[in-house]
Amino acid sequence: MGRDYDCIVIGGGPSGATAAALLAAYGHRTLLLERSHFPRHKIGESLMPQTYWTFKRLGMLDKLKRSDFVRKESVQFVGEDGRTSEPYYFTDRDPSEWSTTWQVPRDRFDQMMCDNAAEKGCEVRFGARVRRVRFEGERATGVELQTADGSETISAEIIIDASGQSSLIARQLGLRKSDPKLRNAAIYSYFRGAQVDEGRNAGATIVIHTPGRAGWFWFIPLPDGITSVGVVAPPAVLTTGRGGDPAATLEEEIDRCPGIRARLEQAERVDEVRVCSDFTYTSTRMAGDGWMLVGDAFGFLDPVYSSGVLLALKSGEFAADAAHAALVRGDSSAAALNGKTEEFQRSMHLLKQLVYAFYDKQFSFGAFLKEHPQHKDNLVRLLIGDVFNDEVGKIFDQMGAWTELPAPPHTQDARAAAT
Ligand SMILES: Cc1cc2nc3c(=O)[nH]c(=O)nc-3n(C[C@H](O)[C@H](O)[C@H](O)COP(=O)(O)OP(=O)(O)OC[C@H]3O[C@@H](n4cnc5c(N)ncnc54)[C@H](O)[C@@H]3O)c2cc1C
Repeated sequence: MGRDYDCIVIGGGPSGATAAALLAAYGHRTLLLERSHFPRHKIGESLMPQTYWTFKRLGMLDKLKRSDFVRKESVQFVGEDGRTSEPYYFTDRDPSEWSTTWQVPRDRFDQMMCDNAAEKGCEVRFGARVRRVRFEGERATGVELQTADGSETISAEIIIDASGQSSLIARQLGLRKSDPKLRNAAIYSYFRGAQVDEGRNAGATIVIHTPGRAGWFWFIPLPDGITSVGVVAPPAVLTTGRGGDPAATLEEEIDRCPGIRARLEQAERVDEVRVCSDFTYTSTRMAGDGWMLVGDAFGFLDPVYSSGVLLALKSGEFAADAAHAALVRGDSSAAALNGKTEEFQRSMHLLKQLVYAFYDKQFSFGAFLKEHPQHKDNLVRLLIGDVFNDEVGKIFDQMGAWTELPAPPHTQDARAAAT
């Protein structure tokens, strides 16, 4: 029996909108289902420069260049005493256009990405919540959509789960595993009138350690004088003795941390305080018969290096290419959809190793680079998001002797591909 669509993409965040746009551009009948009505709030504003190449492929560059989104040229790290170390300027390494990226208000950016998918011919439905993915045996065959008067079933040859932290398929199949070493929470909001640096530092993402390196703040300048500010730490650090009021906790944490306090002295909070927790996890598989996971629906790394959107875009791209090849060949088995999953997971693992090093209170990037100056370039490449290659990982050959790094990923995809 014929299917309603070639592909259904669940979720209109960056991963879903990327996969949907590319599949529609290939000429496949593609349906994107997004549960909310845009614009909606979403955290995750700071991009990595390597997003440039997916934007180029998507035809998004001109739209981004025309926007008022703040340009980001560097990342800066501030110690617990408020001292700023030398910024990592992406443009010093390569002055080309792609080295400067953007800080994006996600309500507007995600809307732009979905509009772009629609322009490429994808059917986009907002307010369309997928209740569950339907399987016949091991094969995904469609989705059950929640409607006002019950449910509707829609079938497709391939289902791409881009549902973010909802991780629809991974939860349904019990694939999701959290990382006990990176069990963190975040409390965040938006401020007007923060003290932002000038010149090429004006758009920098600033990462500021809290006293005792118990946690860290992000400071991300956005348009209209707004700054995104949040604190990340183990849940126990953020809740102990605070009576469970996130706004009071955020205020106290700002007060205790010289590096962020100075920047917010003249600022006022202009939005509610939000909380999220336990956000580092991965899935034991990335693809199966007729289904694929992309972006946060597959896995998410702690936000310290702002890698979430890059990984979302890249996995969306990989998934679209694999799904296209599978549809052309008429084979959407796990083996056919697995083409790039190992490469993706290897690249994600590079960033995960860097995250582990960041959270090791005994480890110092400065001391490491002093002894191994040959790895400075690899470190900057990692911060840029240049992780889809075999070279930058060499830094971990030496770093492994300085700090405990995570074990390599061992998903079932490789085995599934072999069968
Ligand atoms: C505290 C914090 C700070 C972060 N900071 C950064 C940062 O600075 N830079 C960065 O790059 N990343 C950051 N991230 C990560 C970033 O937000 C995510 O990695 C990124 O949004 C993932 O994109 P996605 O498309 O996979 O998922 P999402 O952006 O989460 O999109 C998923 C979409 O699916 C929809 N959906 C969910 N369930 C259903 C359903 N059942 N039916 C239909 N639709 C559904 C949702 O409404 C949503 O629109 C941060 C994350 C956290 C937690």
